[in-house]
Amino acid sequence: MDPAERRRIVEETFRKYGEFVNPGLVLLFRLGGETVEWEAEGAIVRDIDGKEYLDFSGGPAVFILGHRHPRVVQAVIEQIQRMPASVRAMPRPAEADLAALLAEVTPGDLRFSFFCHSGSEANEGAIKLARLATGKPGIIATEGAFHGKTMGALSASGRDKYRQPFQPLVPGFKHVPFGDADALARAIDDRTGAFMVEPIQGEAGVRLPPDDYLPQVREICDRRGILLIVDEVQTGMGRTGRMFACEHAGIVPDILTTAKGLGGGVMPLGAFTARPHVWEKMTADPFLHSSTMGGNQAACAAGVATIRTILEENLLPRATEMGNLLLAGLRELQRRHASLIRDVRGKGLLLGVEFENSDIALMVAGWALPRGLIAYFSLNNPTVLRIAPPLIITREQIATGLDRLDGALNDVTQLLQEVESSP
Ligand code: PLP
Repeated sequence: MDPAERRRIVEETFRKYGEFVNPGLVLLFRLGGETVEWEAEGAIVRDIDGKEYLDFSGGPAVFILGHRHPRVVQAVIEQIQRMPASVRAMPRPAEADLAALLAEVTPGDLRFSFFCHSGSEANEGAIKLARLATGKPGIIATEGAFHGKTMGALSASGRDKYRQPFQPLVPGFKHVPFGDADALARAIDDRTGAFMVEPIQGEAGVRLPPDDYLPQVREICDRRGILLIVDEVQTGMGRTGRMFACEHAGIVPDILTTAKGLGGGVMPLGAFTARPHVWEKMTADPFLHSSTMGGNQAACAAGVATIRTILEENLLPRATEMGNLLLAGLRELQRRHASLIRDVRGKGLLLGVEFENSDIALMVAGWALPRGLIAYFSLNNPTVLRIAPPLIITREQIATGLDRLDGALNDVTQLLQEVESSP
């Protein structure tokens, strides 16, 4: 493509965002430079001018297999060429295969799945299922949680900034501190149907609970007769080194939600999966919850190819190995930039770098981009940059990414020193 045509596309895209998408976004995008996303493969994204960026954000946490993994692309193309969507008059092999595979790779006796397109929708479905199965409206969730931005998922989420403008939200939700099992026990009353929790709070800034938290939560839910919903939208599909992060704690949720990586970074796909006793009323009336395009064959084909690829390419141990390497490198950066970085933490390839304040986190993310590194801050805790690269990332790419991050940190240090020494 000639340079004039490239410029035209960039200018038109910015103009149309300003006029038809959201002018607020244009300001943010301009911080990163005058260019547009154009193509991607593996852990590399290219802008329209061919400049390469290493993807340390993973979407966030969407690109488990990197961008355009050939096995997922091929599975989707084959399905699209035969029958991408569904008339919903007969069973669909791709949906059946994906449900059976999910039953195989989710812990314990989790078995029946409903497919949708996003994490929010998966959590909406889980909340409805919990109310349906228990006949009780109350859902307890955790402070700082992120479960999505549709009304039910937002009601379970725990950041006021996103909740306040949309009040009144769905009634029946309350929040307890994350990582505190006693607080959960105290909050349960006779109207409580379920507790909803992330195994690691991703958007709250990669917050890990104490090791005994989920086992205690499981025990409390069993003893008090409420359901346990585990949101694995961000932590699932191998990101933390197990297919689902709740496996580290050895527990089986009653309902487990997935999305993001489930579609292999190629198709939008979400799911909620439940144990048989929770599913009974869905069996009695299969149309109580439905979605026109949910379970479409193209997305389900992507899901099947994604799970098979994670297993066959041994990506679970790889997430642990590459995660440990990256964590060690980030800790080294913390030592070198102790005045900027307060903490580094995470599991597998879900890592967080906590800065002294959100301005520093924003500057580091903003300056990493022109240096060829994509990393975002977390939605519910903007002091933390979340690092969630694809599981297929190589040792060399990790070294390159750390080097670019180091460069951005040096730039920020220099600027802060200039500001401090200016009269
Ligand atoms: N649940 C968790 C744990 C998430 O991290 C997210 C998104 O970041 C969601 C739910 C919402 O997913 P989506 O943006 O696909 O609706």
